[in-house]
Amino acid sequence: MMKVHVDQDRCQGHGRCYLAAPELFAADDLGNGREIGAGPVPAGLEHQAQLAVANCPEGAVAMEETS
Ligand code: SF4
Repeated sequence: MMKVHVDQDRCQGHGRCYLAAPELFAADDLGNGREIGAGPVPAGLEHQAQLAVANCPEGAVAMEETS
């Protein structure tokens, strides 16, 4: 299972993650991105997760495999 995570110390609120993958990310009250729930990437959404990682200008979005 893959998971996504937003590093809140790096996020500057550009919003690209939740525009690219609204199934996986949402904006908080400041417009910063956050993974939804614990960040699981359901089957079929891997491409959107990779897009979010690639398009975050702050390098704040990470994707990792969990056991
Ligand atoms: S794209 Fe990056 S900087 Fe922008 S809201 Fe998402 S995590 Fe934050």
